[in-house]
Amino acid sequence: MPVSTPHIGFAYVDGDLRAEGLALSRIAATVGTPFYCYSRQALTSGYAGLATALSHLPAMICFAVKANSNLAVISTFAQLGAGADVVSEGELRRALAAGVPPERIVFSGVGKTRDELRFAIEADVGQINVESEPELDALNEIASAMGRTARISFRVNPDVDAHTHDKISTGRRQDKFGIALAKIPDIYARAAAMPGVTPAGVAVHIGSQLLDLTPYRAAFERVATLVTALRAAGHTVERVDLGGGIGIRYRDEDAIDFQDYADLVTEIFNDLDCQLIFEPGRSLVGNAGILVSTVLYVKEGEDRPIVVVDAAMNDLKRPAMYGAYHEIAPARQAPAEAAERAVDVVGPICETGDTFAIRRKMPPVTAGDLLVFGSAGAYGAVMASQYNSRLLAPEVMVDGDKYAVVRARPSYDDMLAMEHVPAWLTRGGAEDSATEEAAKGAETATRGVA
Ligand SMILES: *Cc1c(COP(=O)(O)O)cnc(C)c1O
Repeated sequence: MPVSTPHIGFAYVDGDLRAEGLALSRIAATVGTPFYCYSRQALTSGYAGLATALSHLPAMICFAVKANSNLAVISTFAQLGAGADVVSEGELRRALAAGVPPERIVFSGVGKTRDELRFAIEADVGQINVESEPELDALNEIASAMGRTARISFRVNPDVDAHTHDKISTGRRQDKFGIALAKIPDIYARAAAMPGVTPAGVAVHIGSQLLDLTPYRAAFERVATLVTALRAAGHTVERVDLGGGIGIRYRDEDAIDFQDYADLVTEIFNDLDCQLIFEPGRSLVGNAGILVSTVLYVKEGEDRPIVVVDAAMNDLKRPAMYGAYHEIAPARQAPAEAAERAVDVVGPICETGDTFAIRRKMPPVTAGDLLVFGSAGAYGAVMASQYNSRLLAPEVMVDGDKYAVVRARPSYDDMLAMEHVPAWLTRGGAEDSATEEAAKGAETATRGVA
């Protein structure tokens, strides 16, 4: 789409931005804005690119569902043979519902609840990544009580700085993730003697949006040394999970090339004879999606125009949360001679943080124009909230010249139906109100499960 980010699946044709064969203006006319739009072709070609680069390795690609958990997206990858990396029972249920075979599911996360662990064992997932000694004890206890044995890997904290945004760096000693490398041999030995778990290997994930292979090399080398040490101590290490984190181009970054990444992995792990698991999220979906909004008003600011759009930080949180950059371009291409000017692009929410861009050079836009945010396929729709009681933006997937709404916009009735005002609040503390509330609560809980 936009100038500096050629997105597969999105291009201008006769001045109109299209998702594959469809003008976005046509989808917007039916679906309304704001909405997310994914290109199936972009998803598929991204996956194929990584799978091809890794094809000479014993690799399993487990799409990190947290980057984009729409069932249609997970299903697209599942049909190509992908597994899933999940971090909650909700994501695990999504992966299963999208047709990912349980043996291709990895359950990661620093704070899995006992119920979630039980559910994962019940579902017979391929691997549970254990992030602490207390979690190991809990898992062993739960699995033993169920008469089952959970296949686990230990998430190692390699103490490597990924040189990415502070909030998404996960492999430094002080970060909350994983188990210190030096402690792994002891805990591995403990686990090997437990009836409820089978240690199968180790896992590492040092952060997200990495733009340089250097931290990967440092972490992978430490992990490879660890594998050798564990084997020397008599342990079986069948699997190494190398996590995700491959960065993408949002603006003008040099993204990591899948082939260079695969070459590094080959160099370090080729002779170790392990199954290798990869957990890419952002790199498979980030540039396969956009967010489409409508300009509501163009108002005169202090020294520059302020473009107010109908998308906001509740729809796309990354700019407010990480100061992230997204390209912004009109869906109707401006004539080449149109002079650009610097504008702010903001959403309607009552927070100054609800700002998508400051002093962004853009061709002139007016109320009613469609404005498109690029690279919004990862950590976009999944992070959306209903803040300001705004309805969740729908998600659309395009395939050639057809499209489907793959998550509908809820109605205001849907939104209000989640809540209720207790009778004692309006009637003023009747004696029987506690009982009545218990009944109401049970009713609500039942509805929640159904
Ligand atoms: C978030 C996460 C990923 C995916 O990271 P990306 O940067 O989106 O590739 C993979 N593995 C684990 C354990 C994660 O927490």
